[in-house]
Amino acid sequence: MHPSMHRNERGSFVYYTCDRLPVRHAFTTKFGGVSRGDCESLNLGFNRGDERENVLENYRILAEQLGMDEGRITMTKQIHDTQISVVTEGEAGMGLHQPMAWESDAIVTALPETPLCGFYADCVVTLFYDPATRTAGVAHAGWRGMAAGILPKTVEVMAEKLGAKRESLIAVLGPSIRQECFETDADVPEAMERLMGERVHPFIAEKGVKFHVDLQGIGVRLLTDAGLSPENVIDSGICTKCCADEFWSHRATHGHRGVQGGIICL
Ligand SMILES: [Zn+2]
Repeated sequence: MHPSMHRNERGSFVYYTCDRLPVRHAFTTKFGGVSRGDCESLNLGFNRGDERENVLENYRILAEQLGMDEGRITMTKQIHDTQISVVTEGEAGMGLHQPMAWESDAIVTALPETPLCGFYADCVVTLFYDPATRTAGVAHAGWRGMAAGILPKTVEVMAEKLGAKRESLIAVLGPSIRQECFETDADVPEAMERLMGERVHPFIAEKGVKFHVDLQGIGVRLLTDAGLSPENVIDSGICTKCCADEFWSHRATHGHRGVQGGIICL
């Protein structure tokens, strides 16, 4: 685990934070909610076979624990694409208490008191914060989104639409499946190579007919290539599959699982 990351416990609610983000935020775990069965206990996904009332109660608990306004929690859609939306007053609360108007895997904002939430169960959720302009963002990237460049595209949208400064922008890549556990076929390294060319080679290991791809290493490289300072790009270092006792891992559970959230609020 990166030295700036911390595991926090408030009663049964367990979550991770990063010292480098001086705003309310969390990477949630399985623990602290009211769901049962495969989704026990802090499931944040409405499409995992969980009772809707339980998921809503989990959001209420999450917001209360983190001191955020539950009514303004705004969500990514996560279709493994690279659409990015700027959240303005009319969109606050979309996904939870209002229908979502976008199909965006990343959302960014300059609005205070507007929690932005992305979801993971092996995928890489990255939280962004620029202290110079007080702007924030969240981006979801599975391998498809990573290979399509959603992380540098999020930086671009924050810079162009919100005025964020690349030199002060901080990005924290959350718990996600790491290279030793992320075995793939050739399609994944090929997609990465289409984006990055030879620069991707240090992040791919061949094991027999399979490949192991370092999604976090690729994400860090793409963000520093996009102009972020290396000390402002933090890889949490936590593997969801290795730590499947604490996190839902899609691969560890063969899909019988809840969903965790990465959330940030100005
Ligand atoms: Zn692992």
